[in-house]
Amino acid sequence: DNLEADPVLENSRRQVIQGYYSFVTPKQTKQPQLLHVSDEMLEELGISREEAQSEKFLRLFSGNSVLENTAPYAMVYGGHQFGNWAGQLGDGRAINLFEIDHNDKHWALQLKGAGETPYSRTADGLAVLRSSIREYLMSEAMYHLGVPTTRALSLSLTGDQVLRDVMYDGNAEYEQGAVVCRVAESFLRFGNFQILTARDDKAGLKKLVDFTLKNFYKELGSPSKETYLAFFKEVTDRTLDMIINWQRVGFVHGVMNTDNMSILGLTIDYGPYGWLEGFEWGWTPNTTDRQHKRYRFGNQPNIGLWNLYQLANALFPLIEEADGLEEILDSYKTNYAVKSLDMMASKLGIEHATDADLKLIADFENCLQLSETDMTIIFRTLSNFKKDNSIDGINLIRDAFYIPEEINAEKQAQWKQWFRDYSQRLQADSRSDEARQQAMNSVNPKYVLRNYMAQLAINDAEKGNYKLIDTFYNMLKKPYEDQSEYEEWFAKRPDWARDKVGCSM
Ligand code: AMP
Ligand code: MG
Ligand code: MG
Repeated sequence: DNLEADPVLENSRRQVIQGYYSFVTPKQTKQPQLLHVSDEMLEELGISREEAQSEKFLRLFSGNSVLENTAPYAMVYGGHQFGNWAGQLGDGRAINLFEIDHNDKHWALQLKGAGETPYSRTADGLAVLRSSIREYLMSEAMYHLGVPTTRALSLSLTGDQVLRDVMYDGNAEYEQGAVVCRVAESFLRFGNFQILTARDDKAGLKKLVDFTLKNFYKELGSPSKETYLAFFKEVTDRTLDMIINWQRVGFVHGVMNTDNMSILGLTIDYGPYGWLEGFEWGWTPNTTDRQHKRYRFGNQPNIGLWNLYQLANALFPLIEEADGLEEILDSYKTNYAVKSLDMMASKLGIEHATDADLKLIADFENCLQLSETDMTIIFRTLSNFKKDNSIDGINLIRDAFYIPEEINAEKQAQWKQWFRDYSQRLQADSRSDEARQQAMNSVNPKYVLRNYMAQLAINDAEKGNYKLIDTFYNMLKKPYEDQSEYEEWFAKRPDWARDKVGCSM
């Protein structure tokens, strides 16, 4: 509409000023090929294995055909990126296909990487094999770790080549295009609400909040100011739970922008995420955030709260009561203190934690800083400790040290003291060593998708070998169980993989 008024004919996308979504048709691809299907998601969705092998399934979930009587669309949303309001964003490379109700559950299915939408801005709407493998494997793995997350149904190659700037050398390169079909009860984000308030569209905001309540927060009751507050409280609690779970397993999201925060408290947008190898508060996998480290491991709980402040601002026009919102935001801090203590205590096998345990936990975290210490390995091995201190603790955890020689006499003494305190604390609990071990092993995963492991699967896949994707997919279904056939993956990051995190675009 503005073309005539605008003297400069710009070859760029218009803003979608009033709409909430736009119908889009996924892009036809050259030669679609299904690389992997989640058997569990098939079951959740009520799709049979035979159907999953059909041409129809392949065409549908690679974006090459649209199911009859459905109308795929992309949503508008906004967001704060790295602390700054970025204005209108939206599904730039996600296309919502349709929704399925099965076994009393509601699922929305969307394709990631199926081509441009009105929200693609200057980008191409596509995804490469590398980032698609990372999203596909990780979202399923997180589910099995017990972390609230979006899921993934399928991973396909498109047969098209996609041009990408490979960050580390600055050169553009062609990579294989891929599409992931991801699945969640809803993909609504904080940003979907923010954009409406930014537009001063109170009616639209009310419509979206009421829709969200009716469909995803039924138990909260019918719309009213109290219900809106209860809704904000529930989102706050869920967001905190999600982040506590991230801290528990050592997951660093990497891009906690408000457009990547699910209104259902699900982990969403697996981009430059990474795993803690050495336990380090300051670590971030995001190479574009290495200077400020806004989204570093130790800052994730703070950022969760910061993002909730933005959501509170977005909901304010409906609630108009700052006190109620602030009270909920304050509850995040107090609940964080309680829940993070419980979480750390459970990782250490302490029953009935009290504030008196904070020192033992802090001392432990300080010991972890003495020398690079693998988070997954140390917590898992610690479950073999005996509370009478009859086995040498340092020897027990030696495998977790990346550079064992660094543990000099002074550091040994610090660890020894900690083990004495730990032993004493465990003796105050009534439970047996065996019972404690079992409890610890249910919160400390043995198998995680380490950054280099994803990279190995990617390297093979780029050469046409997809076996490792299937191996990891299966192994990560049981992250807390000993699985003798996968013992080789319960190991520290090899030396060559230091500081190599697959960044994702
Ligand atoms: P992200 O940093 O992945 O959360 O993306 C931020 C915004 O950029 C979102 O609106 C995405 O949809 C959009 N975006 C990211 N990658 C692409 C791409 N390759 N093509 C189009 N839009 C993209
Ligand atoms: Mg995103
Ligand atoms: Mg992304």
